[in-house]
Amino acid sequence: MKYVDRGGLAFFLKGLAQDYDVYAPRQVGDELVLERVDPDEAQPEVAWNEHRLAESYKPFFFQTGKVVSRWTAEGPQGAAPTRPRALLGVKACDLKALQIVDKVFRDHTFQEPAWCAARESNLIIAGDCTGSADSCFCTLLDDVPWPKSGYDLSVAPSDGGWLVDVGSQKGEAHVAAHPTLFREAPAHAVQARDAARAELKARLEALNARYRTRDPLELSVSKNLKTRIWAKLAATCVQCNACNLVCPTCHCFLLHDVKTPDGSARLSMWDSCFHSGYARMAGGGTPRLQLTERFKNHYFHKFVSFPRNWGVTACTGCGRCIDACMGRIDKRDCLYRLETEWLPSEVLGEIH
Ligand code: SF4
Ligand code: SF4
Repeated sequence: MKYVDRGGLAFFLKGLAQDYDVYAPRQVGDELVLERVDPDEAQPEVAWNEHRLAESYKPFFFQTGKVVSRWTAEGPQGAAPTRPRALLGVKACDLKALQIVDKVFRDHTFQEPAWCAARESNLIIAGDCTGSADSCFCTLLDDVPWPKSGYDLSVAPSDGGWLVDVGSQKGEAHVAAHPTLFREAPAHAVQARDAARAELKARLEALNARYRTRDPLELSVSKNLKTRIWAKLAATCVQCNACNLVCPTCHCFLLHDVKTPDGSARLSMWDSCFHSGYARMAGGGTPRLQLTERFKNHYFHKFVSFPRNWGVTACTGCGRCIDACMGRIDKRDCLYRLETEWLPSEVLGEIH
């Protein structure tokens, strides 16, 4: 474990900007947003995000509207290369989201080239959560609000400076390149960080205690697939798709061909399982014509079919979908109500 003082970290980021486009949380008005750090800034101002940002890091790995191939009169053209990025403020739920999507796009026979290239080239500087949003529920999924794996470097504020955990050879090389900046972490700083971690975890557990289900979520959803409660849960959904767009684990996409001045291009666009045309087949048929069915499928995929296929739930408890929902639908509440409001007589009934 390393330690760096506050000014030292800014200096370190400035150095990184020579090799990477550095994106960090910054204060813009009342909002914390991800912004590119200008390499010419004398003292880069980086804000500490106490919890995950409103936006996820998904677009740095899986961009909507990305050109996946181009054709001109000379034939097929390769996709334009992008500069590697150093991403700061990545929280435990964001790290887990990347690892979940890796299952589909990387750790698989069929690999998504842009995802794999971005996973290889981007530098991830994670951070401990030191607070939580009202919608955060990672502990309901038995996770913790601090980085455990999947980062190159991880930082946590402690003792007026920063504790720096090295998580990869790439991270190690960057630390080793600044021998005067980093020193061994004092034991009391590590103890203070660990105490802060335990306190925040307890606070999150208390915040979400009323949503804790008796059964594992996979069972809660799978055993209630035929109840009518789904219509009640989906009653205020306006199909805005915001929950899919902000979700760091949603990864469905469509390919779309467009004309360009010198030929044509194929774009990859994010899809949404709330769309009536989602999973539409040749001939125009759609397997889930009613919104209630699509709503249910969203939960089924995240909490039942994805874990059965890939061994992990496709939700990190980041709560972004709760904050973004125009229908004020709270995923935790839906999962809890599945267990508490279903009627036994409906379980064997037809789906309406
Ligand atoms: S479903 Fe909601 S809480 Fe779960 S990862 Fe997606 S945005 Fe976060
Ligand atoms: S954000 Fe809410 S209203 Fe919009 S599609 Fe998702 S559940 Fe429906």
